[in-house]
Amino acid sequence: MTELFVLQTKPSLVILNYYMFELTVVESFSAAHSLRNYQGPCEKLHGHNFKVEATISCKNLNKLSMGMDFKEIKQILKDILKKLDHTFLNELPYFKHINPTSEEIARFIHAEMKSRLSNNCKMKCVSVWENDKSKVTYTEDER
Ligand SMILES: [Zn+2]
Repeated sequence: MTELFVLQTKPSLVILNYYMFELTVVESFSAAHSLRNYQGPCEKLHGHNFKVEATISCKNLNKLSMGMDFKEIKQILKDILKKLDHTFLNELPYFKHINPTSEEIARFIHAEMKSRLSNNCKMKCVSVWENDKSKVTYTEDER
């Protein structure tokens, strides 16, 4: 009964052992790439306006009942996308030997974001759209 009382009066202090809230932000960037060893037109230099959706999971809410401020998540994602925006992806150090496919771009963004999150939040997944009809999602969660 005591525990129930605590839950009813101070919900923000309840510590959950699982990540209950998912927060998603969307940003975009433009870049050129050419897919090495691809048998088709994508081997030639071309560009995309990539759309990126990043989702994080949060365990607890802060005093304002937020898992993390959207402004903060967006800033992290924007800082990462700044490294990719208006570049020829193949020439970036990360993609020197890795084909700059949407799959690898999603994995790159996931890793960069993961290293910048607080303990309360973890990286859930990153989706990269290379056009309106094609999207890749990268996650390290077991399904
Ligand atoms: Zn392409």
